[in-house]
Amino acid sequence: MYAATIWRANGVRLMCGAGKLNMFKHPNGQMQRHFCLVCGDVVCSTNGLGLKSIPNQLIAANHAGNMPERYRPTVHLHYSSRLMDVHDELPKYLERPGGPLYIEPASGRVHSQLGTWGAQSRQA
Ligand SMILES: [Zn+2]
Repeated sequence: MYAATIWRANGVRLMCGAGKLNMFKHPNGQMQRHFCLVCGDVVCSTNGLGLKSIPNQLIAANHAGNMPERYRPTVHLHYSSRLMDVHDELPKYLERPGGPLYIEPASGRVHSQLGTWGAQSRQA
């Protein structure tokens, strides 16, 4: 499982440590991961659309262990391939934003009441 914030490429800028990063390019896809040569942590990933993802744990680690409100998740993506159910009120897109939403089997409840991808502009 990989919880992350997603940004447009021009919304992310490396402030320091560029010489301590290496890049892994997926052999069959367009995904790239940039990881720390010192500790191995993923610092940033780039998907096939050119969007950057920053691991939530990295952001929290740089904010005294807490995720700042402005970076807190607002949707779940690719929920159809989850490893476990997540019990929160966030919209859960089965795949990409704007596509079908997860419907809770027991209640028939659609998790869509808190926003849409369009509400994600603060993360872009
Ligand atoms: Zn490191």
